Amino acid sequence: MAGIRADDTPAAARVVMMPLPFQGNLTPMLQLAGALHARGLAVTVLHTTPFNAPDPARHPRLAFVPVAVDVPEAVAGSEDNMTKVFDLNAALDASGCLRDALASLLDEKEARRPACLVTDAAFPAAQKAAMDLGLPWLVLNTCSAAAFRLFMSYHILYGNGYLPKRESNLCLPVKELPPLQVRDLFDPSELPNQENVQKIMNLWNQTKMNSGTIINTFEDLEGPELEMIQGEVTDNGTLAFNIGPLHKLSPIDGTKTSLLEEDCSCIEWLDTQAPCSVLYVSFGSLAQLTQDEFTEIAWGLANSEKPFLWVVRRGLVLGVEKPELPEGFERALLEGRGKVVEWAPQQKVLAHSAMGGFWTHNGWNSTLESIYEGVPMVSRPIFGDQFATGRYVEAVWKIGFLLEGMLERRKIERVIQRLMVEKEGLEARERAKDLKEKAIMCLESNGSSQMVLDNLVHHILSL
Ligand code: UDP
Repeated sequence: MAGIRADDTPAAARVVMMPLPFQGNLTPMLQLAGALHARGLAVTVLHTTPFNAPDPARHPRLAFVPVAVDVPEAVAGSEDNMTKVFDLNAALDASGCLRDALASLLDEKEARRPACLVTDAAFPAAQKAAMDLGLPWLVLNTCSAAAFRLFMSYHILYGNGYLPKRESNLCLPVKELPPLQVRDLFDPSELPNQENVQKIMNLWNQTKMNSGTIINTFEDLEGPELEMIQGEVTDNGTLAFNIGPLHKLSPIDGTKTSLLEEDCSCIEWLDTQAPCSVLYVSFGSLAQLTQDEFTEIAWGLANSEKPFLWVVRRGLVLGVEKPELPEGFERALLEGRGKVVEWAPQQKVLAHSAMGGFWTHNGWNSTLESIYEGVPMVSRPIFGDQFATGRYVEAVWKIGFLLEGMLERRKIERVIQRLMVEKEGLEARERAKDLKEKAIMCLESNGSSQMVLDNLVHHILSL
């Protein structure tokens, strides 16, 4: 089989890892690969190419096997991210290419044969390939434990009448999943293609059949949710392993996993700003805004009179390849108060002493990265699990404020003021700092995430 081979040193066991090829899924999978390798396991990464292929040269200790796939135009271009995931899974399942690549690895001589596959919780095509070949498989859940539990509860949400959502029940608490409200639920019935509702139900049912669920979270952040997962979700005897935050547990940092080129000029710009003064604004790699929302954000930032660093990536605005900043907005930038980049070295940005707050879509990686650096947030969830995470940021961890409803420049100015200037914002920052301390403790040599990683390695060796 074609592919780059690395690390031929004898290892306790080999693990194959198959990331779902989107930035927010690829990054934690490669970080997990780095963490498992550091514990003595050999790792082969099976990845799509050319679609969102990682760069093997940045990971000399891992082996890479590319799987050439024709990704349907719809996946690259689709505006609906769930549809993207399902279309990609369908294309990979139909072509049989993942299964063939995995079968070739199983044909290798004893010493190189993989003990198991680790794949994404939202990658049923890869899970099915492993099941067809009789290879044990584990899932890496790239969202929070709370969101994982929520996705595992869809039968209850439909059964108890929360879903499909209705205008009249949006503010109703979901008693089974506090503190979530109906409006925080991702409603599969709203997907453009109704077949996807059944696919979501099937997806989480299949995910339950794994040999272990790895969750990128830590005990002091989501202890109660983890306990409930062990009790309810893994009812077939499989185990849940909380080993986050992965970006700090692993020797592989964000700069090595980025699919886009980072504009590091923003770090020099941050160097010129006062401590805790800058609002960082980014909506991750997939979320999209309407043109009106984009314009309101621009003016909200400009009028806030606070320094800001804004990631305006290509494709951020629906239907526009390269978003144009509104006329007159440049003034805020020329005054040196604002900086706009297409893609930032986010972990370095959040770790910078000038960082005062993060306006985020609450993608799980961004949320964990912010928590680890003790940066409080303005939460503006856009799709999927982000709504549940936004609710936790505001109501459970109390380290930020949800910005809900229509985006409007005055509302934006107001929330920036609350976070960056007012007492409640300063209190949120204090709580964020406390959480940072707890995250650091989980990563110490006797910390919970390190101990759980040891357990995970033993579990893999026992498969
Ligand atoms: N990211 C980055 N530079 C940016 C914006 C995002 O490196 O300008 C990284 C960020 O650090 C995170 C990932 O992209 O690791 C985004 O993942 P997340 O789960 O937050 O959101 P998604 O992109 O999956 O919606």
